[in-house]
Amino acid sequence: MAVTVKSAKEIELMREAGRLLEIVHDEMGKIIRPGISTMDINECGDKTIRRLGCVPNFLNYGGFPASICVSVNEEVVHGIPRRDHILKEGDIVSLDAGLIYKGYHSDAARTYAVGKVSDQIQKLLDATKQSFFEGIKAARAGNHLFDISAAIDDYISSFGYGIVQDLVGHGIGTSLHEDPQVPNFRQKKRGMKLVPGMTLAVEPMINLGTWEVVWQQDQWTVTTKDHKPSAHYENTILITEGEPEILTLHI
Ligand code: MG
Repeated sequence: MAVTVKSAKEIELMREAGRLLEIVHDEMGKIIRPGISTMDINECGDKTIRRLGCVPNFLNYGGFPASICVSVNEEVVHGIPRRDHILKEGDIVSLDAGLIYKGYHSDAARTYAVGKVSDQIQKLLDATKQSFFEGIKAARAGNHLFDISAAIDDYISSFGYGIVQDLVGHGIGTSLHEDPQVPNFRQKKRGMKLVPGMTLAVEPMINLGTWEVVWQQDQWTVTTKDHKPSAHYENTILITEGEPEILTLHI
């Protein structure tokens, strides 16, 4: 599939899709505490998406059975919400959510501490989030796509964390996953030139230990090979002539 460059009209719709998704994340973030189930989070997210008049784009995507991916501790991404998976103090939980607004998709992920986590794990959460911001410093017209990848890699490497390689960020628009792929690790080449109007989901997935991951028997849940925790942080961004615009986060 070709890389799409969005028109001014499309950018307006992408902005609104992003703004609404931020509301969904804010609502889910409010309920995170020990004792709730991963299904409670899914229900909160699903309900909020529909209340906003949007459609959850993850539900039934390739057969995924829920609206929100809820991944706990060593689960990297694509965790399936369960009524009997109860969060406990010291866990971390990654929420990956997306929605469709008037045919346009948004996609974003946050990782939360459940109650108090160890300093080591808090540092992983902070570094994962910061790596997104380091990456998008390179996300501007005239730069190349894999400059983003290199910037994330350079930042994370200083911590010695494992960068997931089997899963990457992506273009986004009228489909959830469009070209190009956006790796979170350094590439041999610089990749395509970035052009204003491109919309990308940049989503570092960072492991405390090894970068290696495995797929569980449910065909969805991706976990770290060494069972150490993993964090995920993602926003949908718009490439402009200057600073990128973050569509799913308004600071
Ligand atoms: Mg994504």
